[in-house]
Amino acid sequence: MDAPTEPPPRQRRGLLIVLSSPSGAGKTTISRRLLEADPDIAMSVSATTRPKRPGEVEGRDYIFVDDAAFQRMIDGSEFVEWAPVFGYRYGTPKGAVKQALRDGRDILFDIDWQGTQQLKAAMGEDLVSIFLLPPSMEELERRLRARGTDSDSVISDRMTRAAAEISHWPEYEYVLVNHDVETCLQQVRAIVAAERLKKDRQTNLVASVRALTGQ
Ligand code: 5GP
Repeated sequence: MDAPTEPPPRQRRGLLIVLSSPSGAGKTTISRRLLEADPDIAMSVSATTRPKRPGEVEGRDYIFVDDAAFQRMIDGSEFVEWAPVFGYRYGTPKGAVKQALRDGRDILFDIDWQGTQQLKAAMGEDLVSIFLLPPSMEELERRLRARGTDSDSVISDRMTRAAAEISHWPEYEYVLVNHDVETCLQQVRAIVAAERLKKDRQTNLVASVRALTGQ
């Protein structure tokens, strides 16, 4: 039997995959399914001053902090980006992003348009931005109501915010309409696969081609 060989070195730099959408467009499901099937993608867990919702888990969904702790993180330059969203503050801690990229893994961000712009300015070269649209505003409202957790006034507030978030779709590279989760997931996977293969991201490509052609 052959001796076990070392795994080959990583052939590419890690991607920063941003998935933005209004709440109710299916972003959480798509993110979860993408991560489940692909161990090369890590999730960026944001810090937020928003209170924890039922079912949310500290450290998995968010790092829940109070205003003073969030401010200390800003003052200590601990965020790659941060922004106020709907009355609370949300930020992406630097540590996990750096670690994932050092390990050659891709990293997935569920952040809004403001965060996407800041991330693009800070680390734009390897950023892939995807915006997920609901099929229609009526369908979005239907999905929000189907959750059964919010009152009419909360739903109407979410619809207003959704319209504001949607107005930023032209700032994204890829825009998908989520008619159907499976199709949309396949499309996101196709985007990730193609982006990984871009020649500039394959760090050993020049050496491999040289070895191949002898030049
Ligand atoms: P929610 O409170 O519903 O979990 O999130 C509200 C909004 O904040 C969503 O649009 C989400 O994408 C965005 N968000 C979550 N984490 C971050 C972050 O770290 N930075 C920014 N800029 N937005 C975030």
